[in-house]
Amino acid sequence: MGKYLRLRDRLLASGEFDAAEFIVPPAATDSEIARVHCGRYVTRVREGALTPAEQRAIGFPWSEPMVERSRRSSGATLAAARQALASGWSANLAGGTHHAFRDRGEGFCVFNDAAIAARALQAQAGLTRIAIVDCDVHQGNGTASIFALDDSVFTFSIHAARNFPFVKEASDLDVELADGTSDDEYLWHLERGLDEALERARPQIVFYLAGADPYEGDRLGRLGLTKRGLARRDEHVLATLHARGIPVALAMAGGYAHDIEDSVEIHANTIHTARRVWAT
Ligand SMILES: [Zn+2]
Repeated sequence: MGKYLRLRDRLLASGEFDAAEFIVPPAATDSEIARVHCGRYVTRVREGALTPAEQRAIGFPWSEPMVERSRRSSGATLAAARQALASGWSANLAGGTHHAFRDRGEGFCVFNDAAIAARALQAQAGLTRIAIVDCDVHQGNGTASIFALDDSVFTFSIHAARNFPFVKEASDLDVELADGTSDDEYLWHLERGLDEALERARPQIVFYLAGADPYEGDRLGRLGLTKRGLARRDEHVLATLHARGIPVALAMAGGYAHDIEDSVEIHANTIHTARRVWAT
């Protein structure tokens, strides 16, 4: 949890960002959340009525701050998406809660921020083609499930085959990688997967989940990417979208390095890369 504050501090300390560029967005509203999640689940989250088993699946106990954090994080991804439509890119310095299903949470995820933002853009901005490019090391199973029968939101997940979640959902495009996959192998698969995803989806906006957990030093990762490899990943995804004129809303998603500063550095690099690519 501490990485988010450190990330903000690190970006501010870099001198590349103006303090005014960091915005605290409004929390997602009940009606925005209700476009994705079923009412009974949202009520149980809000009122603290989740069962012990549901809380264990989510991975932390219920509290009012947990509810507020989940609403805020979804609101931040939505705000980032709106800003991206206006100026090309923007980021939620948290978010990427892709294990949240319509009626349940798991894996540290309560509400699915990208799904909530995608539905809001469809309802409010009239978008009809959206893609979610999920490079977190874990499959975006909640996202895949939410949009399983929906052609308007394309889900692409590139992840470690033998990692959580152990029962995978079917995304529109899944790329499963072996334990220990290296930088070059990863990029080979990513380039092909991204090309196919963009070709099939022809998105008006992309949500990019730039998880820091494919890192070789991640406790929950299983892959073998270096920091340099992760920077190449970000560069490839962001430069490709920029070149095609596709706006991108970033979310940070996972990152659980043995040394928290490694995860923070990887996330910060993602933001710096986006800034650099869109400055060209
Ligand atoms: Zn993850």
